[in-house]
Amino acid sequence: MNNARTTTSPARTDVLLRTVVDEISPIGRADDGSTSRLAYSSEERAAHDLLSRRFSDHPSKRFVVHTDAAGNRWITLLGSRPDLPAVLTGSHLDSVPEGGMWDGALGVYAGAVALLQLAERDPLPRSISLIAFASEESPRFAQSAYRFGSRAIAGRVDPADLARLADADGVTLAAAFAALGLEPDRVTEAHVPFDRIHAVLELHIDQGLLLVNAGVSVAAVSAITGSCRLRVTVHGQADHSGAARMRARRDALAAAAELVLAAEIIARADPRDDLVVTVGAIRVEPGSISVVPGLAEFSVDIRSVDADTQNAAQASLREEFDRVSAERGVRVEAVTIRDVAPITMSEQVIQTVMDVLSDQGIAPDRVPSHAGHDTGSFAGHPRLGMLFVRNISGRSHSRDEHIDWADAVRGADVLRESLARLAAETPETAHQEER
Ligand SMILES: [Zn+2]
Repeated sequence: MNNARTTTSPARTDVLLRTVVDEISPIGRADDGSTSRLAYSSEERAAHDLLSRRFSDHPSKRFVVHTDAAGNRWITLLGSRPDLPAVLTGSHLDSVPEGGMWDGALGVYAGAVALLQLAERDPLPRSISLIAFASEESPRFAQSAYRFGSRAIAGRVDPADLARLADADGVTLAAAFAALGLEPDRVTEAHVPFDRIHAVLELHIDQGLLLVNAGVSVAAVSAITGSCRLRVTVHGQADHSGAARMRARRDALAAAAELVLAAEIIARADPRDDLVVTVGAIRVEPGSISVVPGLAEFSVDIRSVDADTQNAAQASLREEFDRVSAERGVRVEAVTIRDVAPITMSEQVIQTVMDVLSDQGIAPDRVPSHAGHDTGSFAGHPRLGMLFVRNISGRSHSRDEHIDWADAVRGADVLRESLARLAAETPETAHQEER
């Protein structure tokens, strides 16, 4: 009784997507059109609850809904062979303060539509779990709670962070958990071993103009950028801005300024225009108009989708630290606060998505992701994939983020068919396809 033809027409996808978006997207939306649904907030929970309601009541009774110990909402469409590891899809419903309405959310909406449509077909061998990952964005609890939910599933959170991290109001992550009825002490129970996961496929809005420039509405993602972050402290010597002669100075800020420009030169030298290096924060001591700066502390963020490029950039920058130290008589101390390698998506999953793109009349293309995503939490899993939907404005973390509705519908169609193919893979078919 495969009635796929009627249930998965683009018109049907359009109607379902519209319903899901209209239901959930008003949560946390301000009059100016921006969306604020912070990590582990009541707004994020309300969005999770609205999402799951239609699945808990679904007449097919083929869905299992649960919240795991890290507050991720799981909606599983049961397959015919529950012994087989499941296919995961999903993204996040939390946002940055005053963010856009599609970042993260589009992947959840499209996943919900995919599951609703697939539930109208005969069961596939593998279960497919749609996950609204908790706390993908970092603003509320600082960088260390970034992708907290998906990292908890991957077994990659430090439980000590729950007591250590607090928001601007002093609410710890543990207190935020408790306020939502989650038990902070049990967070590690969210872990799902990799051998229970067949593949991960996340749909996300493009956060730049990659798809606009490529002229495609939907594309496979080839790799997720890495990110190497340094905290650099330049120790010079504070002195009188009048009395201290220029040649005798050891000005920490002037040295830092030279290093900021060196970082920019290193990034601009990348012929592929892939590498980006940013100094986004700087602090000067004592910070007075009449004192030569004695100390300057700044951040460096180095990103590339290529591990060698990212590592080489860090090495070149460290050479500059040595050069400027020697030339200016300052001491430069650089601490690596995070070093995440880029993640290449699985060639097999990319191919699955590209085949579906071709079948749906979309020129198959692949683009890198210059931002991090929940999928990155599963680094090391052999079957990871993502697909991007075109962002007309190219803006992100902003209410100006924008998609064409027809592109969102296409994205949902591509996600559904890609998930169906992944969930149809069995150990028996894999043997024939393995290269
Ligand atoms: Zn996102």
